[in-house]
Amino acid sequence: MSLEELFSFMDSRRVLTAEEERVLYSYDAAPRRCMPEVVLRPVDEEEVVEIVRVCTEEEVGLTPRGAGTSLCGASVASGGRHAVVDFTLMNRILEVDEDNRYVLAEPGVVYQELNRALEGYGLFFPPDPASGSVCTIGGMVAMNSSGMRAVRYGTTREYVASLRVAVAEGKVLSLGGRYMKSSSGYDLLGLFVGSEGTLGAFTEIGLRVLPKPEHSRVVGAEFETPEQACRAVLPLLRRTRTLSVVELMDARVVRATGGEEALSGWQGGAVLVCESEGFREEEVEEEVRIAAEVLQRHGGRVLEADAEQVWGCRRGALPALAELAENLLLEDVTVPVSELPGMLRGIEEVSERYGVEIAVFGHAGDGNLHPTFLWDGEDAPEEAVEELFRRCIALGGTLSGEHGIGTEKRRFMRFEHGSALELMRTIKQAVDPRGVFNPGKVV
Ligand SMILES: Cc1cc2nc3c(=O)[nH]c(=O)nc-3n(C[C@H](O)[C@H](O)[C@H](O)COP(=O)(O)OP(=O)(O)OC[C@H]3O[C@@H](n4cnc5c(N)ncnc54)[C@H](O)[C@@H]3O)c2cc1C
Repeated sequence: MSLEELFSFMDSRRVLTAEEERVLYSYDAAPRRCMPEVVLRPVDEEEVVEIVRVCTEEEVGLTPRGAGTSLCGASVASGGRHAVVDFTLMNRILEVDEDNRYVLAEPGVVYQELNRALEGYGLFFPPDPASGSVCTIGGMVAMNSSGMRAVRYGTTREYVASLRVAVAEGKVLSLGGRYMKSSSGYDLLGLFVGSEGTLGAFTEIGLRVLPKPEHSRVVGAEFETPEQACRAVLPLLRRTRTLSVVELMDARVVRATGGEEALSGWQGGAVLVCESEGFREEEVEEEVRIAAEVLQRHGGRVLEADAEQVWGCRRGALPALAELAENLLLEDVTVPVSELPGMLRGIEEVSERYGVEIAVFGHAGDGNLHPTFLWDGEDAPEEAVEELFRRCIALGGTLSGEHGIGTEKRRFMRFEHGSALELMRTIKQAVDPRGVFNPGKVV
């Protein structure tokens, strides 16, 4: 049977088979390309369930997809008979429950759009990925995304209250609810968060949301090296209570993003930029004063920072670095905050040993760095990348703080998880016995 016939229960305008349409789904923000055989654009749960049923019966691989901004190849097909299921037409906010601080939405809602809608209620959904103007909440839940505010507010996981998930053979699981806590059985909700579309497809997402702080202030400081900057992070976290952002940018990143203008007085070093948020202005001011004092005491030269400009630069780090070389690979190593200086030394040693340029920026406040390999020509620095991960694991770290595994980091999973990787494979087999969901990813 042709693909059009298999999916004839859908409006044919939402079943894309033309090459010029499918090519748009053949890549995400990672280097690998793979053309799907068909792209399906469901508009409701009923269609998703039917898609899953047909894919299971016909042994067609199914990759759920939001905005396609994955940095690890998670939203691209893996070859063979394969459908990409684009969730961006399922983009309704279904309910804002102010009393319970809970919002119910379809998976294709864009992060920033959700926050725009919540603004009217004085609420917000905090994780704040740099891709927030385009990425979807479905993609965020599937990757357990986070961003600059994780140091205070945590990751997407902390906010997922309920999910409806279409799983193998077209069954639908309803998990969690709008209650604050539960100790009822296995944490299946938690299992689906960060599962990268390999266990099922979300059709509805319930999120906890928070009152939005009314005041914020930024303070920055310049250091001789990124390592010196990171030595100030633990003392900062010890002395302060309301810092919501602690970001690192090395000199290359400041220059590439035009950060000189945002940080007046910058003289060419690494910078640490912090933001304090709160409901009382005096509290925020006091916090920034303490932060400036700590930064200075640890060798920093305090800089005037324009909040909007500096966060614009920080969010634009990836596209700005992409201008510096023919190829770029952005990694996502995460270590205990106390090991940040060691991780930065490791990055420098890997750069020297393999002769590859590595720019560094990231969420220093939660130990999540984005060493970014930059090179010209064909040869990817594979050995250097592997050594970076080995060093990260040796420091008690993890392969990914927020970007996930996808296809790009799969081969390194055994370094981190050892025999627990077998248990992950057993779970995958139990939940998706015919291997329909996002084949070739994570495990
Ligand atoms: C410039 C740039 C900056 C970025 N900054 C950050 C950052 O600061 N923090 C961060 O965490 N990430 C960041 N990312 C990575 C990426 O944006 C996030 O992983 C994001 O959450 C992905 O959302 P998406 O809608 O693009 O999902 P996609 O890339 O389309 O998909 C991601 C994963 O989600 C799965 N998925 C999508 N929809 C569903 C669904 N309905 N059901 C089940 N699974 C689903 C897919 O199968 C895939 O495995 C950045 C990416 C770029 C390009």
